[in-house]
Amino acid sequence: MKIAVLGAGVIGVTTAYELAKDGHEVVVIDRLSEAASETSFANAGLVAPGHAYTWASPKAPRILLRSLMDESAALRFKPSLDPQLWWWTYLFLKNCTAEAAKINTKRKVHLCMYSQKQLDGLIKETGINHHRVEGGLMYLYRSQESFDRGARNSSILSDEGLNIRPVSAKEAAVLDPSLEAVKDKFKGALYCPSDESGDARVFTQALAKLSTEKYGVEFRYNSEILGFETSGGKVTTAKLSNGSVNADAFVMCLGVFSPQLSKQLGTRLPIYPIKGYSVTLPIEGSNNVPRFGGVDEDNLTAYARFGNRFRVTATAEFAGFDKSHRPSDYSHMLKSIKELFPDAANYDKPDYWAGLRPMTPEGTPIFGRGKFDNLYFNTGHGHIGWTMSCGSGRITADLIAGKTPAIDLTGMELNPRAA
Ligand SMILES: Cc1cc2nc3c(=O)[nH]c(=O)nc-3n(C[C@H](O)[C@H](O)[C@H](O)COP(=O)(O)OP(=O)(O)OC[C@H]3O[C@@H](n4cnc5c(N)ncnc54)[C@H](O)[C@@H]3O)c2cc1C
Repeated sequence: MKIAVLGAGVIGVTTAYELAKDGHEVVVIDRLSEAASETSFANAGLVAPGHAYTWASPKAPRILLRSLMDESAALRFKPSLDPQLWWWTYLFLKNCTAEAAKINTKRKVHLCMYSQKQLDGLIKETGINHHRVEGGLMYLYRSQESFDRGARNSSILSDEGLNIRPVSAKEAAVLDPSLEAVKDKFKGALYCPSDESGDARVFTQALAKLSTEKYGVEFRYNSEILGFETSGGKVTTAKLSNGSVNADAFVMCLGVFSPQLSKQLGTRLPIYPIKGYSVTLPIEGSNNVPRFGGVDEDNLTAYARFGNRFRVTATAEFAGFDKSHRPSDYSHMLKSIKELFPDAANYDKPDYWAGLRPMTPEGTPIFGRGKFDNLYFNTGHGHIGWTMSCGSGRITADLIAGKTPAIDLTGMELNPRAA
């Protein structure tokens, strides 16, 4: 079968690889000039089943309200007249019950664990080097109250089979000696030994190259998808800024832009862009770089090392499709991370970036088909799409092959989530 994958982010490229491995002829279309140039460009790189919690929880409405008053908060909700925002917020609030949060988190952690296994297999199969750091991630808590709450909440993940456990600040510093000098600054940590980190952009670009070399996958860059032609309940053609592509099947992996194109095909997707900020710093001989990546939980700041670079990310902001950023946007996250890792990098040489997380109200991505028999969706991976990518690619390839995916997709298929 000839299959067109729409979008060359981490989701599109992992999907293309799995489809090509299954023997399909695959073409990937993207409007930018390289793979992983949009949201997959500079994320925190955490492969984090240990952070699979859904954002919609009983606490979330209060946090959203508070953020209206506090500009410096890690979450910044800015109301606008955008009907997509109001529809999305309505669905998000519906998912803020304890019961829904539990169900959605369980679905997410299953997908994350499956995906990490797929990632591991893929790395072994391909030999891709993406600055992988194995051995765990460290989720640090500054106050006793937040530590106790974090430890309590983690049972939802451990009940599903994830090895995640509370450790004292002293034990955390033994596991990661970079914490020794600052162990009085936090009360404890949750340590998930199977979590890992790695550069999602390096991985995606290497996989794209390998897909072409090994399986002949064609990448059509600098080609904007403008619309579609359909016939007899099928999509036949993707109309591009520089031509068109006909295929037997199409997979939509357009991240935050998926709703714009799916709307043309009569499907309204509940995905909204949630902006995050990222700064990459050279390590340049700095002598106390964290051994493991992790999250400063009280400031919601994530960090990881990629070879000779140190990356810090934070903030969830509702700003539509605006990706602009100013140095002041990074003040809070850099302050919090410098407190913990003052000698991790050269903080005078920041490389700033901002990206848009394709969030669904439930926090789980959207798989399966809608109104058209041959149009598949693999989109809406939110704050943890790098973690969920390899499993999502395999699931989509299995759905196209008519096979039952390895994990239960209840609640993650397009219907009835679209409108
Ligand atoms: C600050 C930040 C930190 C994060 N940290 C982590 C983390 O630590 N761990 C983790 O697992 N995840 C993390 N994420 C989430 C992760 O980065 C995303 O979930 C993931 O990158 C989404 O990938 P995607 O392929 O769906 O989207 P994208 O990477 O955005 O890919 C979509 C592609 O579609 C293309 N496209 C869109 N419209 C068109 C069109 N009309 N025509 C042609 N092409 C088009 C775009 O150019 C783009 O290349 C983070 C995200 C942010 C913003």
